[in-house]
Amino acid sequence: MGCMQHDAHAPFVDALIIGAGFSGLYQLHRLRDELGLSARVLEAGDDVGGTWYWNRYPGARCDTESNAYMFYFSRDILNAWEWSERYPQQPEIQRYLSFVAERLDLRRDIQFGTRVSQAHYDEASQQWRVCTEGGDTWRCTYLITAIGCLSAANVPRIAGLDDFQGQWFHTGLWPHEGVDFSGKRVAVIGTGSTGIQAIPVIAQQAEALTVFQRTANYSIPARNAPLSAEEKHEVRSRADERHHIMTHNGNGHAFWIDKTKALEVSDDERQTRYQAAWDKGGLQFRATFHDLLIDKAANDTAAQFIQQRIREVVKDPATAEDLTAFDHPFAAKRPPIDSHYFETYNLPHVQLVNLRKTPIERITASGIQTSAGLFEFDIIVFATGFDALTGAFERIDFRGCGGQRLKDLWADGPLTYLGLQVPGFPNLFTITGPGSPSVLCNLPPQIEQHVDWITRCIAHLRAHELASIEATAEAASAWRHEVNRAAEVTLLTQVPHSWYIGANVEGKPKAFLPYAGGLKHYRDTCDAIAADGYRGFSLRPSGR
Ligand code: NAP
Repeated sequence: MGCMQHDAHAPFVDALIIGAGFSGLYQLHRLRDELGLSARVLEAGDDVGGTWYWNRYPGARCDTESNAYMFYFSRDILNAWEWSERYPQQPEIQRYLSFVAERLDLRRDIQFGTRVSQAHYDEASQQWRVCTEGGDTWRCTYLITAIGCLSAANVPRIAGLDDFQGQWFHTGLWPHEGVDFSGKRVAVIGTGSTGIQAIPVIAQQAEALTVFQRTANYSIPARNAPLSAEEKHEVRSRADERHHIMTHNGNGHAFWIDKTKALEVSDDERQTRYQAAWDKGGLQFRATFHDLLIDKAANDTAAQFIQQRIREVVKDPATAEDLTAFDHPFAAKRPPIDSHYFETYNLPHVQLVNLRKTPIERITASGIQTSAGLFEFDIIVFATGFDALTGAFERIDFRGCGGQRLKDLWADGPLTYLGLQVPGFPNLFTITGPGSPSVLCNLPPQIEQHVDWITRCIAHLRAHELASIEATAEAASAWRHEVNRAAEVTLLTQVPHSWYIGANVEGKPKAFLPYAGGLKHYRDTCDAIAADGYRGFSLRPSGR
């Protein structure tokens, strides 16, 4: 509580933004440079980047194609930047965000190395009071979280980790100086998007690599390559066309989802289409047919195709069997894309341990004890994912009206209206919060949509001399219902252990976290609600 008690002279800004990734940077620009508000970003890291500041693991690269993984709000900025590859690598994304920050002169209003620990709403002053771990206090009218969906690293509680005498790392908190794997016996736990990117790169350096797989995962070849001069030109010349697709197709990517159903074409035609998508590579594979995410029988055809391709690549039949023992529909968990992931298992110094057959019992001083015996390591890499969507909120002590803790309100799962606001927490805006399309979408266009909506909302409050906006409990409860409904019509709920429902973190309540209704429909809903006088929100005059 310390810092809250001595805040009479705490500096005041109209808007405080937590986080300096894509969301925080764009939000700062719009509030400061367009609405003329005083605004400040508090950022835990020492530089801009958000996710891309922390996730520096070997092979870290975005699975979205670079021409769609950027801001579109300014053609000047878009035209002034040039990506080098089909998919941008972590250092290049960080350079891009740094370039945006310089271009818009954002750094002067960002305070780095500042981790927010508490944020309490004071009803008397209608202000938020925000404290940092360093002991500073700020006051603000609008508090905006730009804290990311996948920013709270999840290190599983495996007994004995403290006994381990080697080094261990989580991919989402990777040391800036890098890790030298040469001559080392390395374990990687986890085969999600991160593990699948890191494993081939770590294998190039390590003396021996053992991958611990719990759930067999689908992956599509990325087919990464440098962008040709023509492709670089097209990033600019076809920006409007691409942006139209990104904002109208539901998932924020720059491709349409085919309107054909998988089972309405002949077997040969289906194979030809899958093969073409496989050869092209990338997340677009799941757009080969319209119904892959809603019809299990359609999905099975994709799953079988992928299984066959993997079995053609992996030479050892037992390893191929373990890698393709899928227990969920294709893309019902976020599908990774890879660069030579399955080929890596043909290397003599790489082995796979199937944890479904031989589970981890504990970590010991020298390695990982499974039911099949002890594996000794110098380094363990946890590619074990994140406490998604709500984890970053849990790490800050948010309290709303009447001192209510966000943690308590969300004890059975997050309660938000549109993933943008929380009932009982006036003027708190949550960019890509739980209940918004967020992780089911390419994030930059979703972020732009949220920031634009929040900016217009704050402009509305000021134009009408309103002190605050707050989601009503009824609207939030109806939205939670809509989030569940939207998920239930897809195959996304058919994965018992998915992080989409919080099942990857021990003790986390099971609730479907993102909104599966699609970005286009979602944006139309948000716009209609605003046009209807902010239906479902309470708007309060000053000094209520
Ligand atoms: P993830 O998808 O949650 O995968 C974590 C992996 O660790 C899974 O294989 C999981 O197994 C395993 N695991 C977790 N706890 C374990 C335990 N106690 N014992 C053994 N295995 C355990 O995490 P992620 O790979 O970091 O990816 C998270 C998300 O981040 C992605 O889905 C994507 O949205 C985003 N991401 C994006 C990119 C990109 O665009 N380039 C790259 C990386 C990540 P189970 O499947 O059995 O739970």
